[in-house]
Amino acid sequence: MLSEKSKTLAVLTSGGDSQGMNAALRAIVRTALDRGVEIYAIYEGYQGMVDGGDNIRKMAWDSVGGILHQGGTVIGSARCKEFRTREGRRQAAYNLIAHGINSLVVIGGDGSLTGANIFRQEWTELLNELVEQGEITREVADANPHLAVVGLVGSIDNDMFGTDMTIGADTALHRIVEAVDAIVNTASSHQRTFVIEVMGRHCGYLALVSALATGADWVLIPESPPNVENWENKMCEVLMEGRRSGRRNSTVIVAEGACDINGTPITSEYVKKVLEERLGADTRVTILGHVQRGGAPSAFDRNLGTLLGHAAVNYILSVDPSAEPQLIGFHENSVTHVPLMDCVQKTHQVAELIAAKEYNKAMELRGASFKEIFRTFRTLVRAKPHQHEHDQAPKRLAILCSGAPAPGMNTAAWVAVRLGLDKGYIVLGIENGFDGLIEGHIREMDWMSVNGWASRGGAELGTHRRIPQGKDFYAIARHLEQNQVQGLLIVGGWSGYESAYQMHIRREEFPAFNIPMVCLPATINNNLPGTELSVGADTALNNIVEAVDKIKQSAVASRRCFVVEVMGRYCGYLALMSGLATGAERVYLHEEGVTLRDLQNDVELLLSGFRHSKRLGLMLRNERANELYTTAFMSALFEEEGSDLFDVRQAILGHLQQGGDPSPFDRNIAARLAARCVQYLGEKMEAEVSDSAFIGMLTGKLQFTRLDDFQRMVDYKYQRPKEQWWLKYREIAKVMAKPST
Ligand code: ADP
Repeated sequence: MLSEKSKTLAVLTSGGDSQGMNAALRAIVRTALDRGVEIYAIYEGYQGMVDGGDNIRKMAWDSVGGILHQGGTVIGSARCKEFRTREGRRQAAYNLIAHGINSLVVIGGDGSLTGANIFRQEWTELLNELVEQGEITREVADANPHLAVVGLVGSIDNDMFGTDMTIGADTALHRIVEAVDAIVNTASSHQRTFVIEVMGRHCGYLALVSALATGADWVLIPESPPNVENWENKMCEVLMEGRRSGRRNSTVIVAEGACDINGTPITSEYVKKVLEERLGADTRVTILGHVQRGGAPSAFDRNLGTLLGHAAVNYILSVDPSAEPQLIGFHENSVTHVPLMDCVQKTHQVAELIAAKEYNKAMELRGASFKEIFRTFRTLVRAKPHQHEHDQAPKRLAILCSGAPAPGMNTAAWVAVRLGLDKGYIVLGIENGFDGLIEGHIREMDWMSVNGWASRGGAELGTHRRIPQGKDFYAIARHLEQNQVQGLLIVGGWSGYESAYQMHIRREEFPAFNIPMVCLPATINNNLPGTELSVGADTALNNIVEAVDKIKQSAVASRRCFVVEVMGRYCGYLALMSGLATGAERVYLHEEGVTLRDLQNDVELLLSGFRHSKRLGLMLRNERANELYTTAFMSALFEEEGSDLFDVRQAILGHLQQGGDPSPFDRNIAARLAARCVQYLGEKMEAEVSDSAFIGMLTGKLQFTRLDDFQRMVDYKYQRPKEQWWLKYREIAKVMAKPST
């Protein structure tokens, strides 16, 4: 096996570009350099590999500086006909050998990865041909018997097997959701109907998730065509009923590859024609097109690109070059590697199943969460809930929000109310959290009372940080009894969990508390047990990343260091993940602590950086990283020590982090969690048991943890879980931020 040092790496981006490719490139280059390995970038995809020359450039640490926030790919991408021919690939092999390159990281879609695999399989023969032609010597060919290959999936469609998310899909959802939200505003003013076409030739992921996230009225995707012949009538009926119940607009989202059960394509123009002819609706079509590929990458895509890029290099350096090529993907909230060609084959299989009209099998291959989202969506779009014949009084379910507002709380409430009503329950909304429950501010919700909530930031039900104490429990018990509440959903942060727990342990004392209760994690701090992510954290992360991008831009003409303070209370999640996504050189966390020696070190690093070519410094500080070494203190220290070399500005981001409309991810996860909570409460209410739990995403799956375990799992003093999975990313952040040498 080649030793690590005898490997020379190259990276290229190929096929359709996607946001986050630059983050992957940066991580690949920096990880390789950190490991002491030479790395080249091949510009313009396989075309650059075939053309060689200046298209193959050696990378230095700073070659990939300042690109994290840029969309597309700075090394260019192309579609290349020559690479599909043997001659083209022989020329490409020659160009790699000429630079001593024997290991390749390819970032692209299934086409690009297939090309890489063919190239690798032919490698030995290609080199033999080059020897025969006298282009290279036998020694050179023998020294490079194999080409090691790993692939990362850069694609906005999220259409690839072997990874739960492709690099770029989350940002594409951001673009779609921003556009649909904007269109819904104008559609609503004029009571119009909009048909919006989104990308996805064989994959309805973007269409389905954006339809759920924006509360659209109908969605058409390739994998699951409407299962009736006259689907047009059904769609028109639902839209018309919706208008009758008070909706001011209608939106239909169509994936570009949508078709009917006979396999006939359904175009957006056709949908418009149907709506105009059958409903007489004033209908407009918007085809979102390349906007979906554009713009700054989301926080998630930056971090996904970084994690996968880092892992790709570590992987390729650790394996025998003759090993089967792997796809570095993200599955169950962890980086994984899986045989590349298996993934490509399974990906093609879905397209083949769709072409063969085997829709059920195509949906099966898409996986459980895709099917679950589709099922939930189909209930949410109804104009009215299903009618139920009650032989006994309907169950009574109450919902409240607790803690600071977290973007996505409304989405959760929207889904919980509608799914609860659809099951035939009476759904009660408690205003202003536990404060409202203590005061008895409770109202009955109906189907339209949550209309439009899917996309709205804040908390329409009202939210409050109050945690009940002493006599409050009597008031709560009284109001629960008066309203005959049989199940309680608490959407919120620490105060919600703590309050639920306090009620739970008083069940003996207060019989009214003997009801099933579920907590749904909703806080930007991401400091709750039993879940890897809480609703709101992704939006906050994006808010921070956008703000820091702007702050960095403001310093173009000066040598400046920013100290940016972010929220999170004692939990460093937002600080670390935004540091990773913005390229901060230093992140201060309460979990790690801050010492004077650390600060002295940081001063030295800043001084030496600015003495060389550095123009910008970025230090991210969690709001409670250290009680005494405050943001103001750190800024003053750096300013004083920086003297004439650089100046320092502090930015405390404050409440902008909690605001704004929820990100697509937060809407999606809020909806999925809420659907499961209603199901859980329904089962417990039926069985008349008072099991209580908090729900979360653990290894990417939705799971419940018993409420009894709350105290055991948390660090009570600092209000955070005892185990914090994301702390493992500190090492990667440190590698990425190393000073250039
Ligand atoms: P994507 O990677 O986004 O799926 P394409 O399918 O267009 O995009 O592939 C990008 C490039 O990868 C192609 O232009 C071609 O150079 C190369 N490629 C794709 N498929 C093959 C193949 N079967 N053999 C060789 N090269 C291929």
